Amino acid sequence: MQQEFPWSDVKVYVAGHNGLVGSAIVRALEAAGVGEIVGWRSSELDLTDRVATHDAILEARPDVIIDAAAKVGGIMANSTYPVEFLKDNLLIQTNVMDAAHAADVQRLLFLGSSCIYPRHATQPIRESSLMTGPLEPTNQAYAMAKISGIFYIEAHRTQYGRRWISAMPTNLYGPRDNFDLETSHVIPAFIRRFHEAKVSGAQSVTVWGTGAPRREFLHVDDLAQACLMLVQSYDSPETINVGLGDDMPIRELAETVASVVGFEGTIEWDSSKPDGMPRKLLDTTHINDLGWFPTIKLRDGLTSTYEWYVENVA
Ligand code: GDP
Repeated sequence: MQQEFPWSDVKVYVAGHNGLVGSAIVRALEAAGVGEIVGWRSSELDLTDRVATHDAILEARPDVIIDAAAKVGGIMANSTYPVEFLKDNLLIQTNVMDAAHAADVQRLLFLGSSCIYPRHATQPIRESSLMTGPLEPTNQAYAMAKISGIFYIEAHRTQYGRRWISAMPTNLYGPRDNFDLETSHVIPAFIRRFHEAKVSGAQSVTVWGTGAPRREFLHVDDLAQACLMLVQSYDSPETINVGLGDDMPIRELAETVASVVGFEGTIEWDSSKPDGMPRKLLDTTHINDLGWFPTIKLRDGLTSTYEWYVENVA
C-alpha cells in the first residue's frame, strides 16, 4: 500500500475510541506504530457540547481525525428513538468537523453506514445510488444524519479545499459491541440470546422478524485496516463503501451463531418485529481497486467475538 506519510509522524484523534469501531481503529493504529493517539471517553468529553468539543480539539491539534463517534443502535433502538438518533448524530459530527476546521486538521475520515442508501437500491449497492430514492423507515433518522455528514465533508472539500473523506461500512461486529438486547444489532443479540439459552437449558429461542432479510457482516478489525488505508490513499469527494461483497439470510446467520455458541435448541421467529431493509449488499469495486480486501472469515470472527463476550460481558 502506498503511504502518504509515516504513521509514526502523526497524532491521530479517534473520536469514539472506546466503542466497537473506534477501539478497533486504535488497535490498528498502534500496530502501525502511530506517533500519538488522542481520545476522550464520553464521560470526559460530550461531543454534543460544541464549546467543549472545540476546546478539546483546538488544544490537542491532531494531524488526522478518524470520526467513529456516533449514537448507534439496532433496528429497534433506531426506530424507537428517531429524535436522539437524528439530533445527537448531527451535533456530534458537526461539532467534530467544525472544530477540525478551526484546528486546521488536514486529514479527516468520517464513518457512516450502509443504511444511507435507498431501500430499493439496485444490489449490490454502488456509491452512486446515494440520494436516488426513499430510505428504509426503520433507520431513517440515523441515515439522514449520516447523509448530512457526507455532504458536510463534501462541502468542506469544495469551499475550503480540505482533503477530508467519508466511508460507509456495511453491518459490523466484533469485540466491544453493545450486547444489550433492546438496543443491539443482530450479531450481539444472537450471541447473547443463544448463550443465555444454552446456560439456562432453554429448548427454544425467539428472535425478530422473518429471517428472510439478507445482510453482510464485516469484522471491525477488517474495517480498521480499510480506514488506515483510506486515510493514506483515498482523496475523493465520493463516499466509499467498505463491505464484504457477500451476504446471507438472517436465518442462516442465526444457525451459524447458534452453532458457534453451542445452542442446540430450536429457533422461533417473531414476525411481529420488523425485518428492516430486505437486502443491503454493498458493491465494493472501488475499495477493492485500492487493494483492500477483508481477511476475517465470518465463523472465525464470530468465534473470537463469542470468546470476548464470555470473558467480558457474560
Ligand atoms: P439493520 O441492519 O439496520 O436492520 O440492523 P439489525 O442488526 O438490528 O437487524 C438486522 C436484522 O436482524 C433485521 O432483519 C432484524 O429483524 C433481525 N433480527 C433478528 N433477531 C434480532 C435481534 O434479536 N436483535 C436485532 N437487533 N435484530 C434482530
